[in-house]
Amino acid sequence: MALPRTVSRLSRAAGTLLDGTLGLLYPRNCVGCEAVLDAAGRRWFCEGCEAKLHRIEPPTCSICGQSYEGHLPQGVRCANCSDLDLAFDFAVGAYRNEGLVRDLVHRFKYEREHHLCAPLGRLLADVMEEERLAGGDEDWLVVPVPLHPRRLRERQYNQAAELSRVFLRATGKSGRRRFRVVDALRRTRYTRRQASLDRAGRLTNLRGAFALSRNPGIRSRLEDSAVLLVDDVLTTGATANECARILRHEGGVAKIVVITAVRG
Ligand SMILES: [Zn+2]
Ligand SMILES: [Zn+2]
Repeated sequence: MALPRTVSRLSRAAGTLLDGTLGLLYPRNCVGCEAVLDAAGRRWFCEGCEAKLHRIEPPTCSICGQSYEGHLPQGVRCANCSDLDLAFDFAVGAYRNEGLVRDLVHRFKYEREHHLCAPLGRLLADVMEEERLAGGDEDWLVVPVPLHPRRLRERQYNQAAELSRVFLRATGKSGRRRFRVVDALRRTRYTRRQASLDRAGRLTNLRGAFALSRNPGIRSRLEDSAVLLVDDVLTTGATANECARILRHEGGVAKIVVITAVRG
């Protein structure tokens, strides 16, 4: 008689534990407004907040991904990037940097709300619907923009690396293409926050700030590879461009597409 009681106690405890774990994996509150979500339905956002997430829609610059109102002929390069010598092939952002998304990125990046990596990583994965990315069958190396160790200590995690991890889980289910996260870059110089600088300052602030990983195994994988360079936000593209320059010229990467959850 004692055994079934123990078993039932154990299964109750397991049930509670499972419930708690699922609560962590599938939060019951909207990450935007904390409204309670119905357990069977939405995972991160209530209907009202989901309606506040604005996908970047065409027309966009074919190179830097900046979106424009009205008509922009296909394949045209915009004023934001036409005077830049860009080392990446093109950049794609998933959502507009405004309202709720902007707020979530801020909380994730500066207020240590690490749990937001999950919804933001899912939003990032939406970039793969872009036609130049959706149709291909190539294998991708997913390379997060690195943080300087000192910045990493301040922030406690690298937002780009965390987003890459969630991105990998989200895209891993898409089947034939392989994605692999590779820490191919390191930050060699502590620089001023890009957000605090004007456009000209952003472009010069990062010179010599990045280098390839010292790991020979990682370096050997880069030659002739295709890279998805991951960051949370793309504004002028200066950070992504500096990373792409190192990957292409020192790592021999053949194709580089910058993907960001948000386009500034
Ligand atoms: Zn909400
Ligand atoms: Zn552009």
